[in-house]
Formats: sequence, structure tokens, C-alpha cells
Amino acid sequence: MAFAATIAGSDPSAGAGIQVDLKTMAACGVWGMTVIAALTAQNATHVLDSSSVPAAFIKKQIDALEEDFPIGCYKTGMLKNAETVNIVAASIPEGRNLVVDPVLLATKEYRLLDEAGQERLVAELLPRTTVITPNIPEAAALSGITITGSESMEEAAYWFIDHGAKAAVIKGGHAHFRLGTDVFADKDGIMLVEGEVAPFTDVHGSGCCYASAIAAHIALGYPVRDAVLEAKKFVTGAIKYSWEYAPGRRTMNPGW
Ligand code: PLP
Repeated sequence: MAFAATIAGSDPSAGAGIQVDLKTMAACGVWGMTVIAALTAQNATHVLDSSSVPAAFIKKQIDALEEDFPIGCYKTGMLKNAETVNIVAASIPEGRNLVVDPVLLATKEYRLLDEAGQERLVAELLPRTTVITPNIPEAAALSGITITGSESMEEAAYWFIDHGAKAAVIKGGHAHFRLGTDVFADKDGIMLVEGEVAPFTDVHGSGCCYASAIAAHIALGYPVRDAVLEAKKFVTGAIKYSWEYAPGRRTMNPGW
């Protein structure tokens, strides 16, 4: 059995966050494990509130897993604040694979990582990162690069590598140009990750699902480029078969 662990925030409506990470890992044939790093109170309409988890307790959860399980890959999602980012970066043992989904803002316009946390993510977490998976607004906010087309997506991908990540996928889902194609970069250069144009946009939890599927495939032993290609196929299916869990609101369906 391959093991992957998500370090992220809870979404009680189970469409995003820890809950969709676990469903995705299970669907990919991996034993998913959970380090709860933040809580949200949210439903299909809005995020009402969020709360952090004490840093020492986040470390305890990671230490507990490390004591017993060979974790093939970690994945981070919502980390809420700088203290959480710092403890996560300090607690994951050297040499572990790590997929970072730099979750900044929920589609429902609620901030999931504060500004100091953003700065720590770049300084502390990027040097530990196997692959980072920002969408275009997240890539622009973290790098300061204005993204207007495929060239600036490549520039942003290299910015993350220059700041310590081994690889970056800039997701094209928010792009009006080349919708559906993501730009991957690592030390060997650029790879375009093509996908069918999704029939739906703004599907709740799509970013969580993509990053978890990458982590699951890395845990299964796929090289990073292959893990990203497999995850892209998986996430495209989960968007295609997404369901309307509340009027006008679609969420991922990793069990399709
Ligand atoms: N809530 C939590 C706990 C999340 O981790 C995330 C995304 O990572 C979201 C909400 C964002 O959801 P959405 O896909 O609707 O932007």
C-alpha cells in the first residue's frame, strides 16, 4: 500500500479541503492520511469563519504519522497563517516529497492564507517543494508577475523554480487564453499539460483534487511529470462528472 498525507483545512461540506483530498487519494488507490491544519465553517454558499490549529498540535499529528508510516508524498492545502506555514515546513522530514497547493482565496471570496503566511510559504515551504500547483491568480499574487498569456505563465513557473521549488504547474483553468492547458516546468524545461476544455468553471474543490491526485501518483512511484499527466486526466474526469450539490453550485466528484 502506498501512503500519502494531506496537511490542509477542513471543509464541512466535504467538497474541498481535507475531505476531498481524502476522497481523491482513495480513488487513486492510495491510503490517504490527514493532518488537520485549519478549520473552516462553510457550506455551498459561503465561508462563515475559519480557525487555526495550535502549531504544536500540527507537529504532533505529523510526528505521529512519521512514527509508523512510510509516507510517499505530502500535500498541503489551506494553511491559514504564517505560524502554520512555519511549523509545517519545519515538521516534514527532509527528503519527503511535497506537493504544495498554495491556496490563498476561496472562490467564495474568503481569505484562506494571510499575507504573512504568503511570505512564509515562499521563504520556508518553496525550498522543500517537489511541485507547486498555483492557479493564475495565485501565481500572480506570489510572484508579482502579471500573467497575460502562455509566455508569462512560463515565466511564473520558472519564478517558483528560482525560489526553490523543484517543479511548478501553473494551472490554466482561470485563463481566457488556452483554457484547460496547464504549464509545467522543471529543470528539464517546459511541458504543456493539455486537457479537454472543462464543461464547467469554478467547480468547488478542483484545485484540492488536482494537487491530491498528483501527490497520490507520486506516492505510487510515478516520476513527477507522469504524476502530473495522470492527475490531469483524473481531475478532468472529476470536473466532467462533477455534480450540482446545491442550486447553482458544483463540486468535484472524485468517485466517478
Ligand atoms: N475551503 C478549503 C478548506 C479549501 O482548502 C479550499 C481550497 O483549497 C477551498 C475552500 C476553496 O474552495 P474553492 O474551490 O471553492 O475555491
